[in-house]
Amino acid sequence: MGVGGGNIFEQGLDANPANFQPQTPLTFLDWAASVYPEKVAVIHGDSRFTYRQFAERCRRLASALTKRGLGLGDTVAVMAPNSPPMLEAHFGVPMTGAVLNAINYRLDAAGIAFILGHGEAKIIITDREYSPVISEALQQLGRAITVIDIDDPLGNGGELLGEKNYEAFLAEGEPDFVWAPPEDEWQAITLNYTSGTTGDPKGVVYHHRGGFLNALGNALVFGLNRDSVYLWTLPMFHCNGWSYTWGVTAVGGTHVCLRNPDPALIFPLIEEHAVTHMCGAPIILNMLVHAPDDVKRRFDSPVEVATGGAAPPSAVIEAMEAMGFNVTHLYGLTECYGPSTFAAPQPEWADLEPEEKARMIVRQGVRYPTMSGQMVMDPETMAPVPADAETIGELMLQGNTVMKGYLKNPDTTTAAFAGGWFHTGDLGVVHADGYVEIKDRSKDIILSGGENISSLEVEEALYKHPHVMEAAVVAKPNEKWGESPCAFVTLTPKAGEVSAEDIIQWCKDHLAHFKAPHWVVFGPLPKTSTGKIQKFVLRQQAKEL
Ligand code: ADP
Repeated sequence: MGVGGGNIFEQGLDANPANFQPQTPLTFLDWAASVYPEKVAVIHGDSRFTYRQFAERCRRLASALTKRGLGLGDTVAVMAPNSPPMLEAHFGVPMTGAVLNAINYRLDAAGIAFILGHGEAKIIITDREYSPVISEALQQLGRAITVIDIDDPLGNGGELLGEKNYEAFLAEGEPDFVWAPPEDEWQAITLNYTSGTTGDPKGVVYHHRGGFLNALGNALVFGLNRDSVYLWTLPMFHCNGWSYTWGVTAVGGTHVCLRNPDPALIFPLIEEHAVTHMCGAPIILNMLVHAPDDVKRRFDSPVEVATGGAAPPSAVIEAMEAMGFNVTHLYGLTECYGPSTFAAPQPEWADLEPEEKARMIVRQGVRYPTMSGQMVMDPETMAPVPADAETIGELMLQGNTVMKGYLKNPDTTTAAFAGGWFHTGDLGVVHADGYVEIKDRSKDIILSGGENISSLEVEEALYKHPHVMEAAVVAKPNEKWGESPCAFVTLTPKAGEVSAEDIIQWCKDHLAHFKAPHWVVFGPLPKTSTGKIQKFVLRQQAKEL
């Protein structure tokens, strides 16, 4: 306190427009366009947009939407693959004050109709490839909304459903449209529905401040800079491309669009555009690892790849590194703008044997520098677990890159924020070095004879088997033990005669015996629309075995 009483640092030192502006990722685009106007911002097939053109297109979009009366409080839905309109929507839509609702293009008509209804979208911008499912969804929605079609020459068929195509819509707008930043950085910027791995989809609402911060967090954690060439192997609809839509723009990097994450396209694109960075769920990495030899390429310099969204098996990390990729492991959820946590590499990891290094990377790790707090706690008492790598608790997060809440869902929002922390629903342990390791989603842990068995730990052992391509382990009710592990396995094409007994023996050789699966089922695994294995379907199947 000052001599005269009161805090001298609060006197005559008020926030004003010169020293306090709402944080929004939209300013990254203006910045990049003013600093790198002629640099290539977006590549899509043979098309190129410079940062000047990219910004102009976003402003045209904002202007055209504004002319149609859209703005604060409105929702603009977009159903598109990783193509320029989807990227432009991440800037053009919120420039109007409206909220972008990017829809997962793998959903069925009922799922899309639910989202359009719940999110109250007034307009949908949709790629013609998805016209069959969208026209059905619009019928189910039962109310008329404006439809703008994206007629991408790289798209695959479909019909034009709406009144206009996207390029004609952009032409309605002014390229020098002046957009107003949000009055409050807490204003909603996007609405993202969870894929419903654990139940009904929930509408997660992001704010401008969180988008700004997670974009910068990504750039810091993943080492993006002005020379970065970012290949879009992660769908932009997923948590706004884990906030990389804004993050790559924040550094003036180049976005390389990709409609379909097919290894036969990914390898040549990396080579052609000298890609430096890309992200993807472990399933994408697994596809690259198992791609036919004539598709695979070696690169002159290592390509940075960030993976998350599900636990990457260490065998997949090791195989990717052997192919010339540097793997960064990210953990996060829709509720925290994509990644919140990463296995921050320590200098000494560089000297480790590949297997040991992969074991370090496979842990989910520490919080982003832009996240305020990360703890593993007992959800009842909120007491932190000891850093003994054994005591399981729930991972909780706190900070400015946690969602505003769930749209029109106050009870679930309150429960998710109980005790002033966001409850992730993921169970994990803390290692002596402070790195968190996720053991399971609370629903997935297997309780056998009074012991917890982490399904991820059993899967980790299964993925090390040379002929296992994919694996998932769930609880099967068991009279003696309560529950026992049941493994569902997809074998590699060259597997030959691998039997259930072989798999069980392999697990016994690599795990404590009680953790080895009692049952092994071979075949393809059911996936959600974001490519995650649907354990609830497998649990049902296991019960019926
Ligand atoms: P949904 O909840 O619909 O599956 P999300 O993308 O929000 O969609 O999924 C977040 C969940 O994915 C997390 O709660 C966690 O269970 C899982 N997850 C994400 N990243 C990782 C990771 N690196 N390791 C293990 N699990 C992960």
